[in-house]
Amino acid sequence: MAFDLDMIKKVYDRYSTRIDAARKATGKSLTLTEKILYAHLSEGDAKTAFARGVDYVDFAPDRVAMQDATAQMALLQFMQAGRPQVAVPSTVHCDHLIQAKIGADQDLSTAKDINKEVYDFLSSVSDKYGIGFWKPGAGIIHQVVLENYAFPGGMMIGTDSHTPNAGGLGMVAIGVGGADACDVMAGLPWELKFPKLIGVHLTGKLSGWTSAKDVILKVAGILTVKGGTGAIVEYFGEGARSLSATGKGTICNMGAEIGATTSIFGYDEKAEDYLRGTKRGEIADAANAIKEHLTGDADVYANPEQYFDQVIEINLSELEPHVNGPFTPDLAWPISKFAAAVKENNWPVKLEVGLIGSCTNSSYEDITRAASIAQQAIDKNLKAKAEYTVTPGSELVRYTVERDGYLNTFEQIGGVVLANACGPCIGQWSRHTDDPTRKNSIITSFNRNFAKRQDGNPNTHAFVASPEIVTVFAIVGDLSFNPLTDTVTNEAGEQVKFDEPVGIEMPIKGYAVEDAGYQAPAEDGSAVEVKVDPKSSRLQLLEPFAAWEGTDITGLKLLIKAKGKCTTDHISMAGPWLKFRGHLDNISNNMLIGAINYFNNSPDSVKNELTGEYGPVPATQRDYKAHGIGSIVVGDENYGEGSSREHAAMEPRHLGVRAILVKSFARIHETNLKKQGMLGITFADTADYDKILEDDTIDIVGLTEFAPGKQLTVVLHHKDGSTESFPVNHTYNAQQIEWFKAGGALNIIRRQMN
Ligand code: SF4
Repeated sequence: MAFDLDMIKKVYDRYSTRIDAARKATGKSLTLTEKILYAHLSEGDAKTAFARGVDYVDFAPDRVAMQDATAQMALLQFMQAGRPQVAVPSTVHCDHLIQAKIGADQDLSTAKDINKEVYDFLSSVSDKYGIGFWKPGAGIIHQVVLENYAFPGGMMIGTDSHTPNAGGLGMVAIGVGGADACDVMAGLPWELKFPKLIGVHLTGKLSGWTSAKDVILKVAGILTVKGGTGAIVEYFGEGARSLSATGKGTICNMGAEIGATTSIFGYDEKAEDYLRGTKRGEIADAANAIKEHLTGDADVYANPEQYFDQVIEINLSELEPHVNGPFTPDLAWPISKFAAAVKENNWPVKLEVGLIGSCTNSSYEDITRAASIAQQAIDKNLKAKAEYTVTPGSELVRYTVERDGYLNTFEQIGGVVLANACGPCIGQWSRHTDDPTRKNSIITSFNRNFAKRQDGNPNTHAFVASPEIVTVFAIVGDLSFNPLTDTVTNEAGEQVKFDEPVGIEMPIKGYAVEDAGYQAPAEDGSAVEVKVDPKSSRLQLLEPFAAWEGTDITGLKLLIKAKGKCTTDHISMAGPWLKFRGHLDNISNNMLIGAINYFNNSPDSVKNELTGEYGPVPATQRDYKAHGIGSIVVGDENYGEGSSREHAAMEPRHLGVRAILVKSFARIHETNLKKQGMLGITFADTADYDKILEDDTIDIVGLTEFAPGKQLTVVLHHKDGSTESFPVNHTYNAQQIEWFKAGGALNIIRRQMN
């Protein structure tokens, strides 16, 4: 499992020269984000300054991390690239496929059984190509990365939206699709639009009930789910330095909820403590030697308005605990206003389940703070009214908190300890409820709370808060309770009040683990055989997508005009479909089944223009494909927000959709579409969305002169014989246009390897 100290030293060795070059090229002081980005240019020293939000830049990330659901497709793609070994240190983490049903041991054993074929595939591909493999039960990707691989000033990509978690240790860590991971593992540069920069100046110090989680819940309320799009959020100030490294990880993790490319904190004493605490003192020594490069320049933080595109000020001393939700993580309620909001909106006041842990909030500090509340329930003679679950983020944390008695504390209030895995956070939750049609409330310390995210039930109102706030609500079972001011009746009929939670940043006796669950790859993997059964329903070797035909695309049917929010969960639903992540044809049967059809306000019901009948989206598209007819998907704002899964781009491509036309795209999804050779375009005038009618036949004109910055034209042929057209925008650069022409980026990689 050892981190690659030589690689880290090589990165640090070039810092000084690269940063000097960047200062010269930009003619100014640098933020931390700029230092890391300019130190990772694939071309070497910076020659020019890049325009934020405009220039596409090639980077050379230091690491790749993949979780088991997305790794399948990333590695199936990597196998097509023809390399003997991965070009940069890479890891696979088995965390997403473990269903939470009974408790850790039984659930893990069931998962190993059910997912054997997939785990064997991932283990053997990892063994063959030099990839570190974290077995099921070892932990959740982001927690394991923070504990083992994240390092200040590094740059990594991960095939999961919450990869930015590593920003807590000062790494630029970005969530990508499997196609990007495949490029980097194949040794190719990785392209990113040079991000805008949002500075968050933290003053003061957290105290009492307020925790690091509340910082990001507050930021989400300010910036909303779109506010961070195309930007890296850099936190600085005395308040930032006062936060633990794992608390910083929580904040960076949930930066994904505001659409940020990533989030980051500078290297400081807390980062050093965490590195040493997790037995990485050599990294701390190396980082100390170049410390001045691992934070922004003093001038930047003294005059942030001059250096950031937007600056937000938060005083931690005044920050209240927050509860965000339901249904969206940016609906932010300070605890003092939450009870009134629950009442006014008629949200179910009775809490049914409280869930703590996940990759977002399962540090030693989180667990000890939550346990201090659980202990009060025991001491003050309170019984937990709601169900309560605990999901440790890694075996290292689980073993350590068990050793120190905290799991026992949770079990004493009826808590169920689940496997070190995603479980309920990603819909892998076999929730038992007497009536799924009842409106109900749950609260989690996770990050996402879109409808159906946790339990697949649209009636579930999911709220997000810190682990200690979740724990207090689980004990009281009532969302109108404010632990800062209210009392509760105990089993003896007395009124009792909770004391403020107390936590310990890192274990006094140190972290411990018996078996962390790591499998090192073979020194020479050439003899390792990777098997994929052609009859498998879960894994399927890929076939290259067809190249562009060289003409305008005409005669497209409208597959669906999606209305409102259309996240990657709507496009390629998770939950039960996770098991098909490695089988493109089978998983395509979930394509867009969650999207709402603008014309009938229903999910998974669209008009088949060949029959006039309404039917499921995938079946309708398969019919078009069988008849050799292309189609187009139309969408609303921020189409594809949510996760990095490239299946949301591959499925439409596989089933013959030719273009996605939307008001705006979420960044990762737009890139994924480009990688797969799909045409992703946006309305120049968003009002043109209204011109699209259900029975239209649609052409896309201008492709023979497809060029960066040049608009294309959409022509609508209405059923009444009339025609109208309007311009559409795209963000393809010259290289991405080549991907489109070749039918996908992978087709170009393969050509280059041969
Ligand atoms: Fe797993 Fe949830 Fe974290 Fe994603 S956000 S890695 S699903 S725990």
